[in-house]
Amino acid sequence: MKIKYISKLFMTLVIILGIVGCSSLLDVKDTSSTQGKKIDTAGKLAVHFLDVGQGSSEFLISPTGKVMLIDTGDIDKEAIMMKHLKDYQINRIDILVLTHAHADHIGTASAIINNFDVGKIYMPKVGNTTKTYETLLKTIQNKKLKVTTAKAGIKLDWDEQVQVEMVAPVKANYEDLNDTSAVLKVTYGENSFLFTGDAERESEKDMLNLKADLSANVLAVGHHGSNTSSTNAFLDKVKPTYAVIQVGADNKYGHPTDATLNRLSKKNIKVFRNDLNGTVSAVADGKRIEFSTER
Ligand SMILES: [Zn+2]
Repeated sequence: MKIKYISKLFMTLVIILGIVGCSSLLDVKDTSSTQGKKIDTAGKLAVHFLDVGQGSSEFLISPTGKVMLIDTGDIDKEAIMMKHLKDYQINRIDILVLTHAHADHIGTASAIINNFDVGKIYMPKVGNTTKTYETLLKTIQNKKLKVTTAKAGIKLDWDEQVQVEMVAPVKANYEDLNDTSAVLKVTYGENSFLFTGDAERESEKDMLNLKADLSANVLAVGHHGSNTSSTNAFLDKVKPTYAVIQVGADNKYGHPTDATLNRLSKKNIKVFRNDLNGTVSAVADGKRIEFSTER
């Protein structure tokens, strides 16, 4: 009886050790695949539309390895954001753009500023009265970082080979906080991207009146595919080939709306979505853009 019991215990131990061994092997596999991600994009502009559920975060690596983060996902996405950033093996964020003061864009910004070496921060002038926003301001102050006000016409100094220009907010104030969103056009050779935050009709109208060159191969669709963004006039001006919608599955807002999806599909724009595709990555070599998705 006793021998049987010991052999049973031994078998259990073997099984447990086996499981532990397997999981550490998986960790090793994880690391090597992320190293691959970094090497692949050297000399290219890599844009990762990170899957942060309902919210936005776009992570860019320049041809010379400079890092820009546009938005940081919602407050409950800290662990996910840290994992994403760890995956790309970075310790410095040269430019952090917080498009506007809503939690689904600035949610983990304090944690990121506390955990990474952050260079320049861009934010629109209009703030918010939420605890998340107040904590963010305190964190920036504690780290002795300066904020540059986001507004149309600013050129960002990021990588010599890449032009980064802000095309919104055109006005200092808007009735809706979404319209205060910083909108960025990023151009590398013949490839261009337009990141629109949650800019809606009002801001789109102002951008159109600016007469700036809004054309882009890839459009980060405004306000998670809400019907209040991506007007026909705006889409006709941007003329994207691809669109990425940063949206979480089964969100309470009904994003993206059918109306927006219809407008995009009528213009033959190929759509990627975080809720369906996971993290969406676009790698531009200055002539061609190659997309890959997590699923
Ligand atoms: Zn949002």
